[in-house]
Amino acid sequence: MDENKRKIVRVEIDSKACISCGTCTVLAPKAFEIDDQGHSIVKDSWKELSDEEIIKAAKACPSEAIMLFDEEGKRMEL
Ligand code: SF4
Repeated sequence: MDENKRKIVRVEIDSKACISCGTCTVLAPKAFEIDDQGHSIVKDSWKELSDEEIIKAAKACPSEAIMLFDEEGKRMEL
């Protein structure tokens, strides 16, 4: 039994919704960085963070641009 199994299996950014505020990169620099276009992108190292840390950053996004998906491919409610 693996009680620590991750629920989040995929993280995406809706770049059209991202307003480039930088909040996610401050809260979770291992998961997010700002690209050349000024939008946040997901870094591979997001997997090093706990689900709680990712959810905290996603909830803090003012434009709900951070999308989290579970094992069934469904977007998670935040
Ligand atoms: S918190 Fe949201 S709006 Fe701000 S940079 Fe990150 S993804 Fe973009």
